[in-house]
Amino acid sequence: MCGIVGYIGNKKAEPILLNGLSRLEYRGYDSAGIATIENTAIKTIKNKGRVAELASMPNIDKLNGTIGIGHTRWATHGRPSSENSHPHMDNSNKFAVVHNGIIENYADLRDFLKSHNYFFLSETDTEVIPNLIHFHYINSKFEGEKRFLKAVIDTCKMLKGSFALEIICSDFPDNMVVVRKDSPLVIGKGKDECYISSDIPAILSFTKDFYLLNNFEYAYISRNNIKFFENDLKEFNKEINNITWDAGAAEKDGYPDFMLKEINEQPKSIRETIGSRISLNKPTVLDEIDLDKKYLSSINKICIVACGTAMHAGLAGKYIFEAICEIPAEVEAASEFRYRNPIINEKTLCIFITQSGETADTIAALNLAKSKGAKTIAISNVIGSSITREADYTLYTHAGPEIAVASTKAYTSQIVLLAILAINFAEKLGINSEKIAELKDDILKLPSQIEEVLKDTSKIKEFANKIYKEKDVFYIGRGIDYTVALEGSLKLKEISYVHSEAYPSGELKHGAIALIENGVTLVSILTNRLLVEKSISNIQEVVTRGAKTFIVTNQDFDNKFDVIIRVPKTNTLIAPVLSVIPLQLLAYYISKEKGLDVDKPRNLAKSVTVE
Ligand code: GLU
Repeated sequence: MCGIVGYIGNKKAEPILLNGLSRLEYRGYDSAGIATIENTAIKTIKNKGRVAELASMPNIDKLNGTIGIGHTRWATHGRPSSENSHPHMDNSNKFAVVHNGIIENYADLRDFLKSHNYFFLSETDTEVIPNLIHFHYINSKFEGEKRFLKAVIDTCKMLKGSFALEIICSDFPDNMVVVRKDSPLVIGKGKDECYISSDIPAILSFTKDFYLLNNFEYAYISRNNIKFFENDLKEFNKEINNITWDAGAAEKDGYPDFMLKEINEQPKSIRETIGSRISLNKPTVLDEIDLDKKYLSSINKICIVACGTAMHAGLAGKYIFEAICEIPAEVEAASEFRYRNPIINEKTLCIFITQSGETADTIAALNLAKSKGAKTIAISNVIGSSITREADYTLYTHAGPEIAVASTKAYTSQIVLLAILAINFAEKLGINSEKIAELKDDILKLPSQIEEVLKDTSKIKEFANKIYKEKDVFYIGRGIDYTVALEGSLKLKEISYVHSEAYPSGELKHGAIALIENGVTLVSILTNRLLVEKSISNIQEVVTRGAKTFIVTNQDFDNKFDVIIRVPKTNTLIAPVLSVIPLQLLAYYISKEKGLDVDKPRNLAKSVTVE
């Protein structure tokens, strides 16, 4: 769950590594460090804290090497400290390693190494890796580059868990070995230089040509050459991918934070998600999926599996699939799904949603579903990410890079994509043509309607200013609005550290209403015409008990509440795309009022590659 970066070329590595790390900081930020090789000696500088603190450490600019590795950590084993920061070295300081992931059998490996007189300076699981490499290196029958490479391969064969690794060796000052298993890693190729990174945006300003490594593929990297090897030391050729994103898309574009930028990008990201997939009076174009009428008529259930915000998008998807395709849909947290025995088979279609495409629980859930014979569709935002290589079919949200840890634009794109997929299925099934035509029309209007919602945010900011010191906030909604309540509540928790609960409106009186007292804040979402009166009664019940109210609605009713944010009318099934925006902004402004780091909330990381 950390960020790793590497450079090998003719330029000084240190500023390139620091620059890459600052772009990867969203992935982990409790410690940071870099290592370079100079005159056949490895030099390392690392510390607890942010990349900016690392950059201001004495003598960091004296690292003159033109090959180097860097790491920004999200600690799993051992508290954030200078000793536990990466890079880690073996006892003889011959190898330096940065690692993203978890070594599950590190305790056994430590015992093994201790029995061969190795010692440990950190509490991390990672430190076994450079020492194991050293162990295999000194016992090797190979010479030259094969000796370095084989020592890494033999080490990786002993590791259980997940890892993306960059390794440098003082005997090979012009080479680096990288490998991954279940943690992300990409290699960017420039002219006489290579960049390595956990994700593409961090190095997109240097190159547009990338190699995407699969599990247990080893790259032996020189300045002007990359050789790829398999576990058995067999060399193979790999195709290079040209990325067409704009590097500017991964920058802040004048916004104070990535989160605000990404909230404001939603008209654009939704336009990209829609692309040429839907147009009025024509069937949807989803060439990536070739499921036909016969198959779709044979399935008896759609299972949507995801984590966090993506699961909330999935919950909206359940309403959409049931209404449009008339197929029962279930939604489950990937971390639950994978550890039970879900009743799925070849008559189940499973959809897995993950922004990063690297979410370990979701990938494991997908593999379980496949093993039970279900067909699998992955919905991801990251081209070539791990899940896309496992699923039968992949749909990309095309929302552009999402850097802020709390997801905003990926969520709305996921809902729109689920709606497009549901329309595609219903068209193939030949059902609900009128409903579909209306829904398409409404989807196409979404980008300009989002622009409208974003035009004036002053009331939201004002309300945030009024309640930012509150300890508890309740979110309620009925039907699909409840799924938005869940997402609004999660945003608030993630970036403002305010405790909040989301309830189906009608459920409040069955228990949680006991918590309502004078001054509590109630956020209510109300976008279904048929449920207006019932929902107003629910809000009234809480107002009577002294709550302050913030209502997001596209319905007309008398304003007897504190704040009403009006969003444009649309089909209830896609209303979350509009009604979530004031809730994203409310969480954002509360976080800002509290002076918190919106883009990098405590304890969280962008792509949860650990289980
Ligand atoms: N498990 C390693 C550690 O705790 C790596 C964590 C990470 O991916 O940042 O140091």
